[in-house]
Amino acid sequence: MNGTKTLTIIKPGAVANEYIGPILEKINSKGFHISAMKFFRLTQSQAERFYAIHMDKAFYKSLVEFMISGPVLVAILEKDNAVEEYRKIIGATDPTKAEEGTIRKLFAESIERNAVHGSDSDENAMRECDFFFSKIERFSKFGDD
Ligand code: ADP
Ligand code: MG
Repeated sequence: MNGTKTLTIIKPGAVANEYIGPILEKINSKGFHISAMKFFRLTQSQAERFYAIHMDKAFYKSLVEFMISGPVLVAILEKDNAVEEYRKIIGATDPTKAEEGTIRKLFAESIERNAVHGSDSDENAMRECDFFFSKIERFSKFGDD
């Protein structure tokens, strides 16, 4: 069975551009339940660990600097088949390749400053949710955590 949760981060660029409201509206209107949420500034160590999988990429250092440049909104989103459903509504990593109406098409500034993060597998969703939220900070509508 496909998982019911995914992790999103509204990145510093979208926060600075006052897109928290419009992005959350899009998330809710597409049928996602927000089961956990935090607004804070990532530490360098948190950003480095969160994106450790990209450590060898040319954009890693710049990405980490961007991610700690201002506050972010981190949330757990719930829906059946959450990872895939959310990847659909955020659009391609590169906003110039994202479909019309997707979050990245509407709110991204560049491939790096691309408005939001979305988990890419159920396994990573679980790992990412655990990275930011304890069990008592979650209000699941599926009752699984
Ligand atoms: P996604 O966020 O769509 O899963 P990746 O996991 O491949 O994409 O990359 C993580 C993040 O790194 C992207 O969301 C984006 O902010 C940044 N990034 C990816 N590719 C590039 C690139 N070629 N140049 C600059 N930043 C990039
Ligand atoms: Mg990714």
